[in-house]
Formats: sequence, C-alpha cells, structure tokens
Amino acid sequence: MNAIERDVIIVGAGPAGAICAAYLAKAGVDVLLLDKEIFPRDKACGDMITENVANHVAKLEAADKLDKMSVFVNQLLMVSSNGTEALVPFECYGTKRRDFDQLMLETAVSWGAEFRAGCCVTGLLRERGSICGVRVRCAGVESELRCRIVIGADGAFSLTAKDAGLMKEAPAAMSIGMSAYFEGVRFDRNIAIGQYSAYGAVFFDKLAAPGYIWVLPSGDGGVLHGHCNVGLIVDYADAVRPGHDDLEERFRQWVDSSTRANSLLSGAERISPWRRGKLTYMTQNMDNAADGLILIGDAASVMQPLRGDGLSAAADSARAAADTAWEALKEGDFSGDFLRRTYRANPIHMPADQLRDRLKHRRLIRETLFDPASVDRAIETIRKDTSVGERLLKD
Ligand SMILES: Cc1cc2nc3c(=O)[nH]c(=O)nc-3n(C[C@H](O)[C@H](O)[C@H](O)COP(=O)(O)OP(=O)(O)OC[C@H]3O[C@@H](n4cnc5c(N)ncnc54)[C@H](O)[C@@H]3O)c2cc1C
Repeated sequence: MNAIERDVIIVGAGPAGAICAAYLAKAGVDVLLLDKEIFPRDKACGDMITENVANHVAKLEAADKLDKMSVFVNQLLMVSSNGTEALVPFECYGTKRRDFDQLMLETAVSWGAEFRAGCCVTGLLRERGSICGVRVRCAGVESELRCRIVIGADGAFSLTAKDAGLMKEAPAAMSIGMSAYFEGVRFDRNIAIGQYSAYGAVFFDKLAAPGYIWVLPSGDGGVLHGHCNVGLIVDYADAVRPGHDDLEERFRQWVDSSTRANSLLSGAERISPWRRGKLTYMTQNMDNAADGLILIGDAASVMQPLRGDGLSAAADSARAAADTAWEALKEGDFSGDFLRRTYRANPIHMPADQLRDRLKHRRLIRETLFDPASVDRAIETIRKDTSVGERLLKD
C-alpha cells in the first residue's frame, strides 16, 4: 500500500479552496493546496464581497487587510430597461478579485497550509473504489499525491466533480459574463449619501436580457477615482447564438442608449482587458460527497442568480467542508456516507427543505430575468417599496 502523503489535498486555490485550507490549517490539519495557475491571478468577477464573506474573513483574522483593499458600498441602484430606477439599501465590499483571492491564499499559508502553484490536477486516484489522492502535472512533470480526503474546489465545470461522477446534469442554467476595470466613472452625488458612501448600479437592460449589467466601485481608491468594476452577465444559450455573441458590442450599444449609463461612463476609460467567465446556478451537485471526496464552491454549483454572489456560497461550503474533514480525520471515517451526513449536519449548511424552497425561489428569479417586462414591473414595485428589493437581494 502507498504511504499517505497528506491528510487533505485541496484542488483549486480560488476563494473556496483557500478559505477551506485556512480553516483546516488553523485547526492544525496537514493540508496541501494545489492550483494550476500562478498567483496572484485575475478573474472575471463583479468584485462584490458580501457581509457573509467578510464574516469568514474576520474569523480567519484577515478583516483589517480586507478593509484596506476595499471600498464599502451601501446602496444599489437598480435600473429597468425602461429607465425606472429603484435605490435599495445593500451593503457589500467592492474588492478587486485579484487582491481578494491573493489575500485568502496568503491567509491560508499564514495558518500553515502548503501551497503549490502551477500544478494542474489531471485526475483522481482510487484505491478499492475510494478516492485517495490526485494525479498532478507540475512544470511538465506528472506525479501522484496521496491523501485521506480530497476537497474539490476547482470551480465551475470541475474536473474533480466529473471524475467522481457527481456532475450528473449538463449545466442547464448557465450564464456567461465579462468584466473589466474602468477609471473616471462619475457617481451621482445626489445618490451617494455622505463623503465615504458609495453605490453600485445594476441595469436590467434589453441588451443584456436575460441578464444584467453592473457598475460597482472597487478597490481602495474606488469612489475617489471613480475606479469601478464594470461587467455584464447574459444567458449562455442566448450569447452563443449567431449575431448575439459579441458581448463588447452589446456593451457599447448599451452605453450609447442608456441615459444613466452615459452619465456614469461617458468620461470613463477602460484600464484592463475584458475577462470572461461562466456561471452555473442552482445546485447541480446536490450530492457533493463521494468516498474520500467533498466538493465545494462553484464545483458544487450553488449561486443566487440575481446577486451572483458565488463567493458567499463558496465560503460557507468551505467552512462546512473543513469541519467535515476535521471530524472525518478524528473518526478515521472517509466514506461518502460519513462525509455527506457530517457536511449536511453542519449548521452552516441549509436543511434540505429550506434548500428546496430557496432553489424554487432562485429558479423563479432566473425565469423572471428572462422576461424584461417582468423585470420592469419588479423594479417599479421595488421603487415604491424598497423593502421588497432588500428581501429579494438578501434571499
Ligand atoms: C462574470 C462573473 C461575475 C461574478 N461576480 C461575482 C461577484 O461580484 N460576487 C461574488 O460573490 N461572486 C461573483 N461571481 C461568482 C464567483 O466568481 C464564483 O462563485 C467564485 O469564484 C467561486 O469560487 P471557487 O473557489 O469555487 O472557484 P474559482 O474562483 O473558479 O476557483 C477555482 C480555482 O481552481 C483552479 N483549478 C481549476 N481546475 C484545476 C485543476 N484541474 N487543477 C488545479 N487547479 C484547478 C482554478 O485555477 C481556480 O483558481 C462571478 C462570476 C462571474 C463569471
């Protein structure tokens, strides 16, 4: 029998993997974190870090650093395709993704996790049917790394989920997004309350339907220099239709046609390339465990389609998986049954009936996004009663 090399190997050092590694290392577990990329690396994202994510960062004792690299946003301006606007109280950090991911990685390493960059996992190892490690290619050299538990945190369209047979459905509910940084965005001082206040704007425009466009201050100079993350998310099936696939052209048309977009962006300059990424919504992988493996983050596909705040689900699942792995190591039980049961019993994991309701609600939101007239009506309702918008964004 091969010697165990590690207690836990985590595939993917994005937010899910790095946060999980940090929790495990903080609890004294021997953990190796692998990523195919060299860090720091950038990623398509809206840079919206919600309160729940910030709470995880605080538990990992990195809150001061997050504060320093972020702008604090306290309102969201929702704009419908017919120009109706609703201002909703909504709090989040605007933090550049490159900085956030690097902070989480450094936090994991500071707690004692080992990180290897440029290591691509090419498959899972099995022994008597149970997953017991990974096959990796680092700097062109193939090798096998063994462990007691593999945590798959390798993002949407995860190789670990596919290899373990847990990605059962094709990603039916899928979107594609692109984002870039702009400087010189002019915020409306009649909307921003006070010198340090910032608002983000989300546009449910016909040109993005079914989907939306956002302008969100990001990074420590966010408000002062009009430094923003700007992007759009559209339906994947729609975006690959001939004539619909030029997202940048759609964006340009939107800036020219929307009065509010024009007032925000006419003097602004794009200072980074557009980056693209895919999003999977809802729970494809309701079952996120197999013998010797737990899936977390985008690899386990849980995302709120309106807010698109995958980082929150990623951080929660990272915590639940870290607790589960810790229990499994204590009990010496790495079976799928034990991992699944322990993960689902974690207070952070939503009970099955609540999860079903939540998913129903999310599907409804997604279907609404497909119909611009329904979105217009929803924003009209939110304009009259902002608490509706607050509830919608919270759920
Ligand atoms: C356009 C867009 C905008 C978004 N905006 C927001 C937002 O504003 N707020 C928010 O909360 N969420 C947002 N999201 C969602 C968010 O980006 C994801 O939910 C989040 O990245 C999930 O984190 P993760 O760690 O699970 O996966 P990822 O961040 O995708 O990390 C996975 C890591 O695994 C590595 N990896 C993959 N395969 C392998 C392999 N075979 N071997 C080794 N390493 C591997 C990758 O290099 C990567 O570093 C957005 C997504 C998109 C596409």
